[in-house]
Amino acid sequence: MRTVNTDIIIDNIKEMCIEANYELSSDVSERIIQAEKTEDNAIGKRILGQLVENMDIAKNDRIPICQDTGMTTVFLKVGQDVHFEGMYIEDAVNEGIRRGYEEGYLRKSVVGDPLDRINTKDNTPGIIHYEITKGDKVEITIAPKGFGSENMSRVYMLKPADAVEGVKNAVLETVRLAGPNACPPIVVGVGIGGNFEKCTYLAKKALTRKLGSHSDKPHIAALEDELYEAINKLDIGPGGLGGKTTALGINIETYPTHIAGMPVAINICCHVNRHVTRTI
Ligand code: SF4
Repeated sequence: MRTVNTDIIIDNIKEMCIEANYELSSDVSERIIQAEKTEDNAIGKRILGQLVENMDIAKNDRIPICQDTGMTTVFLKVGQDVHFEGMYIEDAVNEGIRRGYEEGYLRKSVVGDPLDRINTKDNTPGIIHYEITKGDKVEITIAPKGFGSENMSRVYMLKPADAVEGVKNAVLETVRLAGPNACPPIVVGVGIGGNFEKCTYLAKKALTRKLGSHSDKPHIAALEDELYEAINKLDIGPGGLGGKTTALGINIETYPTHIAGMPVAINICCHVNRHVTRTI
């Protein structure tokens, strides 16, 4: 049994919230830089150039990449041989978010009740997903996400007979309907299988996977490539003003499902696809 003091969790989450909002991970930033070089549409190319400049300013001046610094999703993998001492772990995670958003001067975007809509003024609570793993390590992934793109995400409860064509149609329809509203170029996270809530969790998790990586299932990896190409033929383009850079990447995660269904969730993220992972 390994003891981990929750002060370490708080400090790391604080730093990760700031880091995620100031600097895109290299897999995302490199794709944007590369897209500027390959985009043929003049307006699209200019917008990508502005995104590159914006990324550089944020990184060098230590300011947020976007004014919408998001609601913070936290994926917490806890080894079953870990014992936390200090605070209740959920309070510690939220304390880390609170300090990160305060000290990083990040916009506070969370309301405490979805109908009363009073701002909590510290960006808590986060959305926390726990996973118990083997071993004695704690892996934390922080993924703050703006709602311009979150609002354009969808769930489809497809039937088995819809087959893979149904999945392709669902993804392309969602991206088409999102149009310029999701601040393209976008990253597309897709969850296939499980049940109603599992597929949405998978879609969110897919957004934290490195761009350019593929599913380890060959038929899913092929689907990722096919859909990536199809999305970039929709001519939505950077800022929704046309061009071949509509998506920077698409990641698909799958899970076993029921014989009578095929849930599919599409979680769209804008180009500010923030995710930071640390292992303690
Ligand atoms: S969708 Fe993304 S880029 Fe657009 S405002 Fe929200 S966080 Fe910013």
